Amino acid sequence: GFKCGIVGLPNVGKSTLFNALTKTAAAQAENYPFCTIEPNVGDVAVPEPRLKNLAAIAGSKEIIPTRMNFVDIAGLVKGASQGEGLGNQFLANIRETDAVAYVLRCFEDDDITHVSGKIDPLADYEVVETELMLADLESLEKRRTNLEKKAKSGGDKDAKEALAMVDLALEQLNAGKPARNADVPKDSAKAWKMLQLLTAKPVFYIANVDEDSAGEGNEFSDVVKKHAEAEGSPVVVISAKIESEIAMLDEEEQAEFLETLGLEEPGLNRVIRAGYDLLGLQTYFTVGPKEARAWTIPEGATAPQAAGVIHGDFEKGFIRAETIAYPDFIAHKGENGAKEAGKMRAEGKEYIVKDGDVLHFRFNV
Ligand code: GDP
Repeated sequence: GFKCGIVGLPNVGKSTLFNALTKTAAAQAENYPFCTIEPNVGDVAVPEPRLKNLAAIAGSKEIIPTRMNFVDIAGLVKGASQGEGLGNQFLANIRETDAVAYVLRCFEDDDITHVSGKIDPLADYEVVETELMLADLESLEKRRTNLEKKAKSGGDKDAKEALAMVDLALEQLNAGKPARNADVPKDSAKAWKMLQLLTAKPVFYIANVDEDSAGEGNEFSDVVKKHAEAEGSPVVVISAKIESEIAMLDEEEQAEFLETLGLEEPGLNRVIRAGYDLLGLQTYFTVGPKEARAWTIPEGATAPQAAGVIHGDFEKGFIRAETIAYPDFIAHKGENGAKEAGKMRAEGKEYIVKDGDVLHFRFNV
């Protein structure tokens, strides 16, 4: 599955957030650094309000959301790239993720130690990012020596391209910028990806504010917002503490609690969606009397590729996808109505599936 790593300094609220996300007590939130020693992977349902509407129309017995993984990555302190704290483990864990969420402490609380003594979310962010950049620099420099030899001796085309990408990344990092902001030529995207740079992963920011600022944010989260906007990265303002309380409630209590807070949905939904969107993922649906189900595909996936997410045989034997756009399915009250209104299309192998498509695959076995 797709993985989003949660990173940040100790005591910023990562575990609290992670616990709320997974509603487990497995990742203990404690008031001391390094409490989450093992990386914790949480399998999270992606909130999808459209599923309920589809199920209501089709009379589906079951609703099955699509899922993604969040990983609570602990142990980052200054010097992690040199092996301080849980440095090496931290870096290995982050390498395995597809996207990174920076949790930044935007709440004041004298009882909870801040590793550098004061609340400054951007300074915290820079500590973490610097460690990642240093780790990238080290791996690039190691690689460069080999590639240069290869590129010189054989005139190997792949080695030359890789070397060009290494140099592009080095230039970026030496200018103090994360690799994700580099201008990568389109046809070098693959060679770039092969470098597996930590700072090339897409990021979003989670400004963890105090309970009273959950709605509007505060002066600290405003700073985070400004930074994120300048970079073109998403930002979510949230109070992890409130979220952990909301997560403990059953559905009915949750709705009541949210209403008293003046919120439409748990802030966690925004966190999950931000991760999902950042990964370039989108959703299509299969709907029947048994179940209404959401499936995840990368943006740009073709109909056979989408079918392959359900089962490899669906992709191999793909004939066509009977397709109804979500708004048409709703407007015409289901498959039959949409069909009668001429809103059901038969799409072939080349069709690029759109977010919200309701699909029915025809295939050979
Ligand atoms: P981690 O080290 O980043 O995983 O941080 P934790 O989730 O363990 O949180 C450290 C401490 O900060 C715990 O005592 C949490 O209860 C507390 N904490 C987390 N989020 C908030 C928040 O939004 N407001 C307040 N006041 N405390 C928080």
